[in-house]
Amino acid sequence: MTPTSEEQGPPFDGNASAGDLSDVFAVDVTVARTTCAGCGDTRQLAELYAYTRAPGTVLRCASCESVQIRLVRSAHGQAWLDLTGVRVMQLPLDA
Ligand SMILES: [Zn+2]
Repeated sequence: MTPTSEEQGPPFDGNASAGDLSDVFAVDVTVARTTCAGCGDTRQLAELYAYTRAPGTVLRCASCESVQIRLVRSAHGQAWLDLTGVRVMQLPLDA
């Protein structure tokens, strides 16, 4: 049974998720599987259509061609990652 928010107490700030998220974002994302928010197609990220000849990188669904992922990097060491077009991303984690 999942505890209610009242039983869990007040939430922590985002720093409390640093350990779990660093495990997730340290994997080879090309073997991750994405589920398209547009059509529900699920496949490996490496199978998406990549458009890289632009100010950023765009990955489109290989089934419906909706934009799944957008990544823009600045010359100042920052990146913007838009995952709006991904309903779910499955990432293999080392056991
Ligand atoms: Zn799609």
